[in-house]
Order: sequence, then C-alpha cells, then structure tokens
Amino acid sequence: MSHSRRSFLAETLGAGWLGASLMERAALRAAEARAQAATAPDSLFDVDQVADGIYAAVARPEPVINCNAAIFENANDLLIVDTHSKPSAAAALVAQLRSITSKPVRYVVNTHFHFDHVGGAPQYRKMAPQADFISSTVTRGLIAESAGGRFKQAVEAFRKSADDAERQAAAARTPREREHYLRAAGETRAFLGELQSYSFELPNVTFDENLVIHDKAHELHLAFRGRGHTAGDIVVFCPAKKVLASGDLLHGFLPYIGDGYPREWPRTLRALAEFPFEHVIGGHGGVQHTRERLGQEAAFLEELTEAVASGKAQGRTVEQLQAAITPATLKSLGSGGWGQYIIGQTLEYYWDAVLSTPAELLADGIKGSVAATFNALERT
Ligand SMILES: [Zn+2]
Repeated sequence: MSHSRRSFLAETLGAGWLGASLMERAALRAAEARAQAATAPDSLFDVDQVADGIYAAVARPEPVINCNAAIFENANDLLIVDTHSKPSAAAALVAQLRSITSKPVRYVVNTHFHFDHVGGAPQYRKMAPQADFISSTVTRGLIAESAGGRFKQAVEAFRKSADDAERQAAAARTPREREHYLRAAGETRAFLGELQSYSFELPNVTFDENLVIHDKAHELHLAFRGRGHTAGDIVVFCPAKKVLASGDLLHGFLPYIGDGYPREWPRTLRALAEFPFEHVIGGHGGVQHTRERLGQEAAFLEELTEAVASGKAQGRTVEQLQAAITPATLKSLGSGGWGQYIIGQTLEYYWDAVLSTPAELLADGIKGSVAATFNALERT
C-alpha cells in the first residue's frame, strides 16, 4: 500500500517529489491517503469531538470544495455552523451525526455568504422545518444578492471546470492522474445536477453585533467584530468549553481575499482575541488547539497588504508585484511556522494539492493573494 502510494506520488510529482523534504513527503502521503479514503459517498467528513458536546465535521478534500461544520450539542437539540456546498453534503453530515446523537437540528448558522458555506441550507430547511437560520444582517443581504447573477456565473464556472477536468483526464500522463481528473469531472457534473432546481434559503434571524443563545447545556455567543474575509463574517464562541467556530476568518488555508477587506481583516482578527478560546474550528482544514494562528494570520495579512498597497501607490502593476512579493520576501510566513502550517493543511485537505509540490502551492497561493489584495484595496 505505502509502496504503491509512494510510486504514484513520485510518478505524479517527478522532480518535485525528489526535492521534497521528509516532512513534506509525509504530508503528501497523508493527502493521498485521504483522497483515497474519501471515495465512499457517505464519508465527506471526519467528525471529531473537540470538547464535551462539541464536534468538528472536518471536510475531506473534494473536487467541489465543502466547508467544515461545527456542531454544538445543546440540552435538547443541535446548533450547526455552516452548511457546505450542496444539499447532499448536508444530508450526508446529518446522517453521519446520527451515530453520535439523535437530537434534532434547531439552529443553522451561516458564517458568511460563500456558496461552499450556504449551499446545503435548503436541505437543512427540508430536514428541520422548525429550525432558525441565523447570520449577520450583512450576510443575509449578500446571500440574497448572490442568488442572482453571481450564482449563474458560478454555475458557468463549474461547467467549464468539468470540461477542463475531462480534457486533463484525456491528456493525463499516468493512470492515477487520469483517475484524479475523471473523479473531478464526475463529481462536478453531479454537483451541477444538484443545482438544477436549486433555490436559496435565506436566514430568518439576523443580528448586527451580538446574539446570545442561552441553552441549559451552555451559552453560545454569536458575534460580528468587523469586516474581513467578507463584509459580514460572524463567529460562534462557547465560553464554557472555550471553543471558537471561526468560519473563513481563520482556518487552515491561506486566507481567501477575493471578497475581502485586507485593511480591516487584521483588526477584526485581533478583536476575536477577546474570546478566551482554546480550540478553533475553522471553515477549512483541521481543528486548531492553539490561539497562536490568530495573530500569525493577522501579521501575514498586514505584511501582504502593506507591500501591495505601497507598490500600487508607486504605480506598479499586479504582475510586477507578483514578481516582487513572494514566499521568500514575506517574513510573516516564517514566523511561528505559520507558512509550514498552511502548506501542511492545504496538502491534507485541499483536493488539487496532491498535483503540486509544496513550494508550488505556496508560490501560487501568494500570487493569488497579491492579485486579490491589489483588487480589494479600494473596496468600500
Ligand atoms: Zn470557505
């Protein structure tokens, strides 16, 4: 087993594999093992207990990305944070949870409007007609907005990526690479099938800054602390168990800035330090049992934003800045092992990571972050 896996990786990665360190190779093997284990349709998530009555459903790597869910078990019911990319994923998660608890879903929280976090909401409405769907006021508006043109654009983009995957499968250099792209094409087409009769589910409870759920088992504090990954991201904190569900404000991948506010995001992250959390269930990647990633990500966003903003002010183009701002120039990547952590998580939880070397992944990620920051600087 380990021999064939090694051969596949060596074959796929070529010189990249030979150049990878032992730690990188271990991470690559873990990513490949997960990719192989994720073939059963009922195993989209690994459910881990984080504290008494709190679970993380960690999304396995899938061609159409799913987000994690945080599950808070109340005295008589459940609160679930985020609803994945598609109705069938929400159904699969609730079926998987039935081995842990038979309590009904009472609250569904959307941390922000992105489709990999709201796509399964209509399925929750079907499974739990009485449930309350909660988001920030801003996020409810953004979900309503994205139900129009943005949704059509996304469907078009997925159609194109299914076509691309089929072409890549036809041009694959190895049987395993072919299998990788064929699975991507097949799952993307199945996803498109789910979207054919899709209708958005809007939150029916919204708040601006704070919402506290007083349950007999524990209090749950829902909070908006400023713009960051989007204009409306919220977190859920359980003071009794010191668990923070942070959505995409803080997770295991490079922060995605495409709809973000890079000048405000670091301040928003630092505001979250008010919560005395010890565990973080982010929107992607594994559970963090430390507080230190919060400050590391804030420092990265600050350094990146400053570099891009000063270059842009001097009239440099995005291409010039992508050449000038690289993993080698960003000091924050080395601080506290943050860059290594991000790469390890990406290799383990991101579907396409297995086809790149760790160095390529990081370089591409920073290129994308520079471009996204460049475009986001004037966002108001
Ligand atoms: Zn996400």
